Amino acid sequence: MSAATPFPAREPRDHALDACFLGPYGENGALLEKLLVEFLRDHVYWRRNFHPEDPPAIATTTAYHPDYLAFESRIRRELHLLSAALKKSVPFHSPRYIGHMASDLLLPGLAAQMLTMPYNPNNVSEDAAPVTVDMEVQVGLQLARMLGYPHDPAHSACAFGHLTSGGTLANYQALRLALALKAFPLALSAAGVPDLELPEDDWHAFNLPPADGIVLLDAWQRWLAAQAPGERLRWFERVERERVEQRGLAGFFAAHPQAGVPRVLAPVTAHYSWSKGLKLLGLGRDQLELLPTVGTRLDAAALRDTLARCAREHQPVLLCVAVLGGTEYGTIDPIDAVLAARADAQRAGLGFSVHVDAAWGGYIATLFRNGDGSLRGRDEVAADFVDFPTPAVHAAFAALGDTDSATVDPHKLGYLPYGSGAFVCRDHRAMTLLSERADYVFPADAATDYLARYRNFGQFIPEGSKAGAAAAAVYVTHKVLPLDHAHFGRLPRATVRAAEAFHARAQRFALELAGTAEVLVPFAPDSNLVCLALNPHGNASPARANAFVRALHDELRSDPQHPLQFKEFFGSMTSLRRELLGKGETARIYGALGLNETRSEDGDDRLLILRHTLMNPYLIDRENDISYIDRYFDFLARRVRALLAAQPNTPPQD
Ligand SMILES: *Cc1c(COP(=O)(O)O)cnc(C)c1O
Repeated sequence: MSAATPFPAREPRDHALDACFLGPYGENGALLEKLLVEFLRDHVYWRRNFHPEDPPAIATTTAYHPDYLAFESRIRRELHLLSAALKKSVPFHSPRYIGHMASDLLLPGLAAQMLTMPYNPNNVSEDAAPVTVDMEVQVGLQLARMLGYPHDPAHSACAFGHLTSGGTLANYQALRLALALKAFPLALSAAGVPDLELPEDDWHAFNLPPADGIVLLDAWQRWLAAQAPGERLRWFERVERERVEQRGLAGFFAAHPQAGVPRVLAPVTAHYSWSKGLKLLGLGRDQLELLPTVGTRLDAAALRDTLARCAREHQPVLLCVAVLGGTEYGTIDPIDAVLAARADAQRAGLGFSVHVDAAWGGYIATLFRNGDGSLRGRDEVAADFVDFPTPAVHAAFAALGDTDSATVDPHKLGYLPYGSGAFVCRDHRAMTLLSERADYVFPADAATDYLARYRNFGQFIPEGSKAGAAAAAVYVTHKVLPLDHAHFGRLPRATVRAAEAFHARAQRFALELAGTAEVLVPFAPDSNLVCLALNPHGNASPARANAFVRALHDELRSDPQHPLQFKEFFGSMTSLRRELLGKGETARIYGALGLNETRSEDGDDRLLILRHTLMNPYLIDRENDISYIDRYFDFLARRVRALLAAQPNTPPQD
């Protein structure tokens, strides 16, 4: 990337973004207040109009009773304490906050969530949430459209998505669904269902491509529906008894030795929720095989090698995970190459699902969508940026629609309150396998059935009770800001541009600090997350470089011991492990920083780096001609010099 200003400093202000958030200064406080008061009153009137003939249960005079007053004052006191304590919170809303994956909240979502909360819908089922369950089903379709999945519920192979408490549980849901679909053909074989075209043996049954698995499931449902009621139930129970969900992993794999215990393949950059998921599923972390990366992006050649080995050794694969926007480095895996590798593996007899962990990067897909849902070409997208999207990044987003499932976190780049993650699968028909109640014994028709069935979320989701208010927030936000480049896309556009400006500024910063410290952006950012490696000039010891970066980071993180205002900026820290970088990249990065590559004695091979998440759309304040990016680097330069002055160059300790 060129070090020049990446885009004209004077460009028209995007006023549509101005009403999106409460704002760094609380600029839209009056708007939020107006909305909240209006809809709180609305809620109160709703109560009063429910059965107006019922008299008020709480007497008006009670408000003067000492006990009432005492209670009110206790509420007040505790709320004052809470409010005071919360002043120590992390200032996510500020353009001085470029730390973790959090920022200001979108006003439509915040208002929708707060307005829904007094109604307290429980999206576990339509009985407890007649309004917000439909919104959650719609959110799944909105996200499916953003990802390029089929999203018309009138079609039998429509996608389906639901909210979860977060990306962690969405990833777990992906594991559950992949296992259910992979294992189901074995149950059909074991039960000896006649008339169906079943794979020739357990190995083949366990390696059906997911799409074929769904076709088989569909055929089984039709066959079942055609049986007389008594027979239907008998066959249904017979198959149920053979399912992995019934037998458990131990019983199932003991009964099918030819199938083998499957693995999950994921890049070493994968989020630790995958480790949690494998533990929770009972497959165990041993079954999580971490693949190497190139420049922190999944190494497609290594994936191909691994798949060839798995096919040779009859090692089944459950799921291959590709990351769209890694948690630590924001990089984007080559989804297209993963799908191509899967196609080849399928020809070699290895069938498995491909899941995209887009918990972080999911909403960036809005930049790639037109209003009519079609994909935008690379040149069209690129017109707004300096380097984004690289051909590889465009190809990854273009391939999303061909994956089997995805995780997207509305509570990250969707700028919505915690906890809203989402799981979306490409073909909803597989979901029936997760149902707690056997709803498919009596199948009905697609479109009407689709909405009716998913109104009972509790049947399909890992959780039980959950906030309908969260679904309302996501739904309303997606209606106010549809998930295409002209609407929601304005947000990632502003922040990816900020990341490009940040990257360019970091390169100037590296020149400014020459002779003081070596500074490096270790890899070109794929999205709006930019890392920075630093090493005091002349130092070769990784241990000292780490101590230095740790000291810098101490100045960039919240510290409950001191007033918030003591902090000028907030950043975060991560590390590069050699295992992750590989030999070539380790040599390049250590070389550029002037670091010795010999491992430290304690065996710690991590290199600490600063990590900046650029989510705030006001990093470049055109109103006041302030760039918080410039201010950040000025601050960092001051701190680097001050720290080095305080701890003069001691000889390398290694
Ligand atoms: C944040 C994240 C997760 C976990 O999501 P939570 O919402 O924190 O549970 C999983 N994968 C990736 C890539 C993430 O960035």
